Amino acid sequence: MRTVHGIPASTGVARGPWVVIGADELPAGGRITAGQADAELERLRVAQDAAAAELEALAAELTSAGRDEGEIFDAQAMMARDPSLLDAATTAIGQGHDAIGAIRIAAEDVAAQLRALGDELLAARAADVLDVAERIAARLAGVDRTVALDGPSIVVAEDIPPSIAASLPRDRLLGMALQSGSATSHAAILARAFGIPAVVGAAGLLDAARSPDGAGHAVAVVDGDSGEVVFEPDAAAATRLEGRRAAADEADRRALEEASLPAVTRDGVGVTLLANIGTPAEAERAVALGARGVGLFRTEFLFVERAAAPSEDEQVAANRAVADAFAPGPVTIRLLDVGGDKPIPWLPIPAEANPFLGVRALRLASQQPEIFVTQLRAAMRAAAGGRRVKVMAPMVADAVDVGVLLDLAERARAGLVADGLPHGDVDLGVMLEIPSAVLVAPTFFDRIRFASLGTNDLLQYTLAADRGNPALERYRDPLHPALLRLIASARKDAEAAGVELSVCGEMGGDAAAALALVGLGVTTLSMAASSLAPVRRAIRAADAGELRDAARQAVDASTAAEVRARFGALLPRA
Ligand code: PEP
Ligand code: MG
Repeated sequence: MRTVHGIPASTGVARGPWVVIGADELPAGGRITAGQADAELERLRVAQDAAAAELEALAAELTSAGRDEGEIFDAQAMMARDPSLLDAATTAIGQGHDAIGAIRIAAEDVAAQLRALGDELLAARAADVLDVAERIAARLAGVDRTVALDGPSIVVAEDIPPSIAASLPRDRLLGMALQSGSATSHAAILARAFGIPAVVGAAGLLDAARSPDGAGHAVAVVDGDSGEVVFEPDAAAATRLEGRRAAADEADRRALEEASLPAVTRDGVGVTLLANIGTPAEAERAVALGARGVGLFRTEFLFVERAAAPSEDEQVAANRAVADAFAPGPVTIRLLDVGGDKPIPWLPIPAEANPFLGVRALRLASQQPEIFVTQLRAAMRAAAGGRRVKVMAPMVADAVDVGVLLDLAERARAGLVADGLPHGDVDLGVMLEIPSAVLVAPTFFDRIRFASLGTNDLLQYTLAADRGNPALERYRDPLHPALLRLIASARKDAEAAGVELSVCGEMGGDAAAALALVGLGVTTLSMAASSLAPVRRAIRAADAGELRDAARQAVDASTAAEVRARFGALLPRA
């Protein structure tokens, strides 16, 4: 038995035979003479064009099957057609490299530039460029890179670039274990989209996979929740892992079974449970788990995984797909939330000393209004035909920002009228995630229909604690009385103004915190689909009167810990 540990990247436990997928056997680049340069350049152009066409076809196929991975290949197709890649390769051919060598040198150049920007997302794009180069190299060498699996298997590899992942037979793929990568790498995203357990970044994985000792069962187990990968588990480990697998399956089954139960407290207070989603593909599972709509549709996925801005039509299609999946429930589209902390390759945003306090989200509208106008147009077009579409702006600080949102919406609406395009009404709202917005909410609540508390940012800005800094864990509990006071204030002002108030930060999906929110009078909660079942269970076991009493005391508490203890005690036993 050999055990390695990595990063849990996609939930669930998989068990089965494993197959190691090796690096491609592609030839190394060679040298050419000056007389061969023109012919080599022509060969490269043909291969580049063919690779781009192949990627476009793959993207179209996946997109029409409703699979989000299509985005990745669209972006790769654009990279394959990028003239700067060909320019760099042409230079390398001029220096005596053959086409295979030249495309690799060119891709390495581009990848090095992307990596030098020190951003995780851009570093992932670097991997894409290299993957595109390998696809072109495979064309040049006449090598077929398709992976075949003889039967249901766990795939083990150093990494699985998107071009290989797409060719994996999905019906035979039980799980994935990768030696490199992070939870945000493409392979991890793909595993989640496939719904298969995955562990990534597991040091020593390949050695463990390649040295069978025959000491146990000839199978591997990938635990996508704990990050454990075990080859040839002994009897005790096999029993333990089988137990975990059964427990995970049982929890899943129970969550689905309870999905249609109403989220109502014992004394009859109803709570609306909505889903936070990042891509249209997540809609199906959220609906199955009982979400009554979408409280937060993060639109960044349309913008970051690619080489150019998405078209308005593409955005309309994504919005429609989500709205249709949840009909008659509403879908709340959040305008683009990017900035110095979440850069996008095609959008030049200067580096900032404090990106979380910088030109982020709606603040970008002063420089790039068209991005937001197009998003609003796409939302309004999706609302045609009676779909329930709402739009909210992230990072609103005050009434002036609300004015910016309303102006952008008016431009979008007037443009659609001028263009004669069918569209519908959308409710406009804001995220309350900056303390100033909560404090001056009455100055703008009469101009919007709804507000959603973004407790992740609201907590970070209220307690001045960077949400990504592991050293600041003690400031990360949303049950901090300071946050509860802001929420109580927002709730009072929203009620007075007739504004619908909800929560879409992680707080809503934390069962104890969800009870505190209900106690504070916030009864629309949006959360990751996986939190729906536990939160529903907690609400059904609770008494709203008791929650109100606990919430009244919580705002006067001195620590988050005592508030958590109080609401934790009101949770049902598992
Ligand atoms: C939030 O800040 O609570 C929120 C929901 O938005 P994000 O986590 O995307 O910043
Ligand atoms: Mg936020």
